[in-house]
Amino acid sequence: MIPSLAPAPPQLRFRKVLLKVSGEVLMGDTPYGIDMNTVDGVARDVAEIVKLGVELCLVIGGGNIFRGLSGAAKGMDRTSADYMGMLATVMNALAMQNALERRGVDTRVQSAIPMAQVCEPYIRRRAVRHLEKGRVVIFAAGTGNPFFTTDTAAALRAAEMGCDALMKGTSVDGVYTADPKRDPTALRYDRLSYLEVLSQDLKVMDASAISLMRESGIPIVVFSIRRPGALVDVMLGRGVHTVITETPLAAV
Ligand code: UDP
Repeated sequence: MIPSLAPAPPQLRFRKVLLKVSGEVLMGDTPYGIDMNTVDGVARDVAEIVKLGVELCLVIGGGNIFRGLSGAAKGMDRTSADYMGMLATVMNALAMQNALERRGVDTRVQSAIPMAQVCEPYIRRRAVRHLEKGRVVIFAAGTGNPFFTTDTAAALRAAEMGCDALMKGTSVDGVYTADPKRDPTALRYDRLSYLEVLSQDLKVMDASAISLMRESGIPIVVFSIRRPGALVDVMLGRGVHTVITETPLAAV
């Protein structure tokens, strides 16, 4: 037999993932709103892993535009403020869809709050089918319920889609013993267990999101989405990140 000269496909660590990107990442270096260059940078990395054959869905936060708690702090009714926050995530989802489609990635937005003229409603089976067809699905409007966050929405959709991992793309490259932006002695964990995150109250995701991932046995991978190529590295088991699973603490 003539040996194939084609390079072996890269070894993917996960086949189906949900990527959670906080709204704040999309601000880039601007103080507020959507920085399209930053959105395009995330879209470039997403497009690259979709090309590798990964089924990918996305949840994008809304903190760059509106947070329910900050609205409530200014005297707004909490539920109205939370609905404003959920609507903000729809804007981010549409911006990301645009950036992905400009890169030739087929994308569908599904909203937990139906808005027929703007995007599809969230229908689990339909979302699964989109993923099977190689489309990226962006879940917008969080869980559709006030008093929740997009972290919980990300965990919920990751469980519903049967994802192999929940990738949390933030502005730091993992989970640290303290805030590395304030404390230069902070150390990064390579691995953590769900229970360690909960008992030490480490600022990774909401406790409800961590608990749901624990119950579903879905690992959480925390990495910096700001570094170009980091998402690809993590998918290939390289680069700097923190993995949260059921196993006990490894060395810091
Ligand atoms: N939100 C909500 N229910 C959800 C998801 C989000 O009420 O299921 C609201 C909540 O007010 C939140 C805002 O939407 O503050 C934006 O989401 P989040 O703060 O999670 O965004 P991120 O921090 O990821 O940018």
